[in-house]
Amino acid sequence: MGLKEYLNDIMEAVVTTVKGMRITAAYGVDPKEEVTLQYPEERWEVPERFRGFLHNDIKVCTSCTMCVKVCPVDCISLEAVRGADKKMVLAFYDINIGRCMYCGLCVEACPVKSLKHTGGYERASVDRGELILHFVHEDAAEIKARVARQVAEAAAKAAEAQAASRAAEAPAAAKSPEAPPADPKAAKGEHRE
Ligand code: SF4
Ligand code: SF4
Repeated sequence: MGLKEYLNDIMEAVVTTVKGMRITAAYGVDPKEEVTLQYPEERWEVPERFRGFLHNDIKVCTSCTMCVKVCPVDCISLEAVRGADKKMVLAFYDINIGRCMYCGLCVEACPVKSLKHTGGYERASVDRGELILHFVHEDAAEIKARVARQVAEAAAKAAEAQAASRAAEAPAAAKSPEAPPADPKAAKGEHRE
């Protein structure tokens, strides 16, 4: 490197530093626009369609498993059992937000729109287990046992009702007279050409 080039580099460094400091000084003396927030006391308002943590309204969810099938990183897991009224009952529904990449495919696929993104994005943790969101708070084994009991009770009631209706039909059938023949001549054995 020649002396001229060396001096040019020094001059360029001085000029760019002065330019940068002029902008800094202008903001320091008279800030036209605030570009920083005093986080965590202050926070940006997230945009309306921001894809934050997921929330599933389990009262609306039909356990169709579309979200599970469509998720490219397998971070949704659920189990459901069929209830006495033939509707599915969720035993558990979990989303691992430590693995989720917030692509929104599951929300798009949800046919009843029970699954939605929220504006939430802060959940620092040193325990990965805390990054699994549980949407069913009752114990899965208890739910399955309760549903199995209800199904058995409903089946027993249905069987009782069926037996009672058969018992009611049997004496009525015994008492009812034989139906008269449609053609009285046919009943007498007459034959028509
Ligand atoms: S947002 Fe994407 S990665 Fe996250 S659970 Fe839904 S489908 Fe999976
Ligand atoms: S796609 Fe929607 S309705 Fe179906 S299991 Fe997922 S959250 Fe529930």
